[in-house]
Amino acid sequence: PSASPVHKVSFEFCCFRLTFTQLALFTASKMRVFDVLHSRPGLDATQVAHEIKASVKGTECLLEACVSLGLLEKYQKPMYENSDLARRFLRSDAPLSLQGYIQHCNELVWPLFSHLESAVREGTNQYEKAFGRKSDDLFQDAYYSRHEVKLRFMKAMHSMAKITGKAVATAFDLSSFKTACDLGGCTGAMAYEFTKAHPGLSVTVFDLPGVVDMCGHFRPRDADNRVSFVTGDFFKDELPKADLYILARILHDWPDEKVHTLLSKISDACTPGCGLLVSEIFLDEDRRGPCRGLLQALSMSQGKQRSATEYSLLLKSHGFTAVHVRHTDNLLDTLLCIKE
Ligand code: SAM
Repeated sequence: PSASPVHKVSFEFCCFRLTFTQLALFTASKMRVFDVLHSRPGLDATQVAHEIKASVKGTECLLEACVSLGLLEKYQKPMYENSDLARRFLRSDAPLSLQGYIQHCNELVWPLFSHLESAVREGTNQYEKAFGRKSDDLFQDAYYSRHEVKLRFMKAMHSMAKITGKAVATAFDLSSFKTACDLGGCTGAMAYEFTKAHPGLSVTVFDLPGVVDMCGHFRPRDADNRVSFVTGDFFKDELPKADLYILARILHDWPDEKVHTLLSKISDACTPGCGLLVSEIFLDEDRRGPCRGLLQALSMSQGKQRSATEYSLLLKSHGFTAVHVRHTDNLLDTLLCIKE
């Protein structure tokens, strides 16, 4: 109430801008605007409208909004082409394309967040309200219930792993490890980054059968035969033997009881000297940031976002010590610990 008119206006502008930025980005991406302008740069609004099968008026508004957000460039006539940002991250065949992640956010995360008020009131995930079905395990009941939803989720994980993988894989000197197991390694994108960064390392990706069945879709052309895949449930099945276990973006999905079950299985599979590398967003110790972690927590999944100290304590309780923490300048932070 005491905010000055200027602050109120800029706060409202910020809310307005955030909401509409996402909607414009999701819609342009879903309607293939960035792909169309990649294959035919310099089209005008009428030509783009024809390509994406939309009204000229609507297309013009969408293109102008994208220009204002720096996603497109506009030249005289007016003609449009992708900005450098769109060329690098928004066209579907870019090596670091975020299309999969954008689609996942549009179809799954956005509907969940549109029930945020109920999520906050109830302290629970709003999957049932958003999609009309109950989900106890988001992976098995929701993401993997239908083929196209599973593929979309895998594409999302793949695109994020390609963006973050190198920073995670090179955060520590791992030259003393010869075999690694990437638990919940999904498409193998992270595993390929580890083998690229560490010539002496082989990585087994361990994930649910429905995921491993589809990993062929994501195999890079220059795929390394040092990456292999094994199916299983990491809460129930025996884990592959390895010198180093990797948990990238796994633990935040689960409550402490499930984390203890998983860490206890990893600890049992480890011999002294084995490593465990955990990669997550680490919350600041005073929980004031980073906002991408704190905002993600609002999804009210059954898991939780934790600080490096919270992760270290969980790990220590399973015999992992010598915890080294690296805050990378990428989206994920990384911690390496060793089994006593
Ligand atoms: N580690 C990957 C990365 O960083 O891109 C993927 C992270 S994704 C958030 C979580 C992964 O855990 C998915 O690939 C999912 O299939 C896998 N997963 C979930 N529950 C699992 C289970 N019970 N056993 C094995 N894998 C599981």
